[in-house]
Amino acid sequence: MAAPDGWPGRRVPRPAPEHGVGETRNSDSLVQCLDAPPRQPSKGWTAARLGAVVGLAPARYSGRAMALRFCVLGSSSAGNATWVASDTTAILVDAGFRRRTLEERLAAIGQSASSLRAVVVSHEHSDHIAGIPRLQQKYGVEVFANEGTREGALQTPDFEEVRWTLFHTGHPFEIGDLQITPFAVPHDAYDPVGFLISHHDTTIGIVTDLGTGTTLVSTRLQVCRALVLEANHDERMLRDSRRPWSLKQRILSRQGHLSNRAAAALLLEAAGPELTDVYLAHLSQECNEPDFARQTIEEELRRAGHVRLRLRPTYPDRPAEPWPCA
Ligand SMILES: [Zn+2]
Ligand SMILES: [Zn+2]
Repeated sequence: MAAPDGWPGRRVPRPAPEHGVGETRNSDSLVQCLDAPPRQPSKGWTAARLGAVVGLAPARYSGRAMALRFCVLGSSSAGNATWVASDTTAILVDAGFRRRTLEERLAAIGQSASSLRAVVVSHEHSDHIAGIPRLQQKYGVEVFANEGTREGALQTPDFEEVRWTLFHTGHPFEIGDLQITPFAVPHDAYDPVGFLISHHDTTIGIVTDLGTGTTLVSTRLQVCRALVLEANHDERMLRDSRRPWSLKQRILSRQGHLSNRAAAALLLEAAGPELTDVYLAHLSQECNEPDFARQTIEEELRRAGHVRLRLRPTYPDRPAEPWPCA
């Protein structure tokens, strides 16, 4: 497919980047997220089987028509991708699965990779970018990232042919009728970001790799109706695991991954009046359990009087329930 005008390296026309509170730049980048287990191909989840499980919910919210929808297609240190769409524009946030897996998971929710307009990339770890070269090769999707993420990705030869559109951390840009605001998060990557995605009066937030919840992050997320938020590990399970001490320290560090309790603490700061649904993402398959993560966070929220939030699971090997939920 022909490349759109301006590739490679077209820049979103925005001012020079501002560095917000908590923004980090760390050249000691890892190729894959810190708690990554060996990569394994997804097995057993055919499109037909998945379709029976998920199915798209009607785009309604509290009785109002609402065009913004999303579905976490899969999330763990083995791969991350979230489909986000209005009625006219569909994108992925991260594409950390093989192209074929992405195609299958999109088909499972009644979507096609050929309708994707773009991938926006949070950071260069392989569980967020692995599918990008083949996806762009086949479908011509535009790939949005900041300069640091592009630099990081280019450490891997597979990415030399990728055509990039550069955004600036902290500055909103548009893809079709979606407005995307990337904001800095502390994580062990070149210039990692989380995203707010808005369409008309609806905003969602996606933050899956961060070592700690900064003031910048919680302030940004206060406008969201729904969140995809990392709940990576339980601290005790991580400390008791057989992982090398140095790896444990890095996961627990401010540049690492968010624990269940840290996710709860961030939620208490970030939950604005519109927030109803929180998808718990990037769960460690060795150092966390979905029910345990939900219960831990629910307990913290209940203790602080936040009883209205619905915590929803995401899965490493299949799509989560699409949002808005039926
Ligand atoms: Zn990750
Ligand atoms: Zn990462």
